[in-house]
Amino acid sequence: MAKKCYAIGGRINFNEDTVSLCHGIDIGDKIIWKMGDDGEFTPQYYREKTEELNKKNQGKHPACAGCSNLREGNVTSEKIEIITINPMYYCQNRCIYCGNFRGAMESRYHPLPVIKQFMEEGMIAEHCLFDWGGGEPTISDIFEETFLFLLHQGYMQRVNTNAVKMSDVVLHNLDKGPVSLRISLDSGNYESFLATKGRNLFHRVISNVKKYREKTENLLLKYVITNTNSDEKSLNDFLNLAEKMKIKAICIDTDMLSYGWTDYPDLLRFTEKELHAAHFLQRKAHEKGLDVQIGYVWTARDYDTPSRDFNCIKSIEELILNDERYRLPDSLSEFHIARIQEFSAGIMPRVMASFETLLQEVKGRRVILYGAGKNGRGLWSALKEFGVKTDCFCDKYKAGQYVEGVRIITVDEMLKKLDEDTMVVITPCHVREILHEFNDNRYEELRGKLYYIDAFRFGRQVLEEIEMKEFV
Ligand code: SF4
Repeated sequence: MAKKCYAIGGRINFNEDTVSLCHGIDIGDKIIWKMGDDGEFTPQYYREKTEELNKKNQGKHPACAGCSNLREGNVTSEKIEIITINPMYYCQNRCIYCGNFRGAMESRYHPLPVIKQFMEEGMIAEHCLFDWGGGEPTISDIFEETFLFLLHQGYMQRVNTNAVKMSDVVLHNLDKGPVSLRISLDSGNYESFLATKGRNLFHRVISNVKKYREKTENLLLKYVITNTNSDEKSLNDFLNLAEKMKIKAICIDTDMLSYGWTDYPDLLRFTEKELHAAHFLQRKAHEKGLDVQIGYVWTARDYDTPSRDFNCIKSIEELILNDERYRLPDSLSEFHIARIQEFSAGIMPRVMASFETLLQEVKGRRVILYGAGKNGRGLWSALKEFGVKTDCFCDKYKAGQYVEGVRIITVDEMLKKLDEDTMVVITPCHVREILHEFNDNRYEELRGKLYYIDAFRFGRQVLEEIEMKEFV
C-alpha cells in the first residue's frame, strides 16, 4: 500500500524566503522552493515537486523517512486545504522558545499573486484554511492586502498574533468573515510574561486581547508551557484572566525547542514540573468550563501519533471548540528523562529571554563573561553600549591575554572572584560541555550565579530597537 501524507498535495507554507509543505517537528520542514535558487514558484512547479516527493516516498529510502505523518493508508487531499502564510520572521516579542524575531521587518516576496494562480487553476479547496504566522504577521507589509482579499473571497483565516499592536484591519473585519484569532499569551501576569516573552508588554497585550474579544468569540488564548511560566500563580492568573475576558477556549502547547533540539542550552526546560503544569492547566480550565486544545508539539517525541495539527477544518468555530484530538502525555518522554538524569543535580544556568531582562539582572552586579570568543566579545560590546562594564572574561584557552582591554582569567581565578554580587554569563552555545566540566569539577561556587543568553538575542537589530524604545 502506498505511503501518503496529508501535506503532500494538501498543504503549502509560504515562509520568509522558502515554500515548504509542513512545519514538521519530527524531521524538520519539507522545503520545496527556495527564493533565489529555484526560479519562480508556480502551480506547475508545485505539482512537479509533490509528484516527485510522492514517488520518492514509495522507494526503499523515503524522502520523508522518520516522519510520523507518512503512513500507509493515509489519504492525500485532492485540493489544498491548508495554506500558512509566514510573511516575515520579525516580531516585537523575544519569546524564550522562539527565534523568529531576527528577520527583516518586511516581506521578501508577496505570496498573493501565486495564491491567485492556484485559485485560478482550481487547486485550492473551498474550505481551505489560511493560517497566518511568522514572526508577527499583522505588521507585515503584505498583510492587509492579502487578508482583505481572502476575506472577500470568503476563505477561513486564522491569525496567530502576539497582540502587541492592535491590528485595525483585523479588528474591523473580525465579524465580516470567517476569521479566528490565536494569541500566545504564555503567561498570566507581568512577571511570567517578562520572563517568557522577554518584553515589558503584558498590560498592552491584555488590553488588546480585550478589544479583540469584544468583537469575536473565535479567539483562542495559547499557553506554551516552559520553565519560565510553569508556576501555579501564573497558571491561575492566566485562567482568571481568560474567565474575566469571557474567553471560550485555550490552547496548551509545549516548547518546540525543549522538545526538538537535543543540545539546546536550556537543558532542563521541560521537567516533571512543566508536565504537571500542563495537566493542572487543563484540569482547571475544564473546571471553569473552558474548552481546551492540546497543541501538536506534544506529539514530537511520540512517533506513534502523527504530528498534524489540523486539516479538513470545515468551519472557523472548529478551530477553538471541542478540539482535543491530542492528549497530554502522562509521563515525560525518554528524551526528557535522560536529560534530567544527566543534569538535574548539577549547576545550571538561568536562561534569559531577552537582552533587556539580562540588563535588569546585571544592574549593580559584577559581570564575568565565560568565553572570550565571538559571542563573548559581542556580549561585551552590547553591555558596554548600555553602560555595563564587564569585569573580566574567563577562558581557559586564552587566560593571560586581553580582549578589548579586558583581562582574560583562568577558571580558578574566576572561582576566587565569586561573591554574592557576581554573575557569570556563559557565552558559547555549547553549554552542555561547559556544564559537564563545571559539574565534574564540582564548582559549587557557581551555583545560582550562572546565566546564559543566546547570541541572537543581542544582535544589532535587537539592540537598535531597544535604543529606539519603540516597537512597530
Ligand atoms: S511526510 Fe512529514 S516531512 Fe514529509 S511532507 Fe508530510 S509532514 Fe512533511
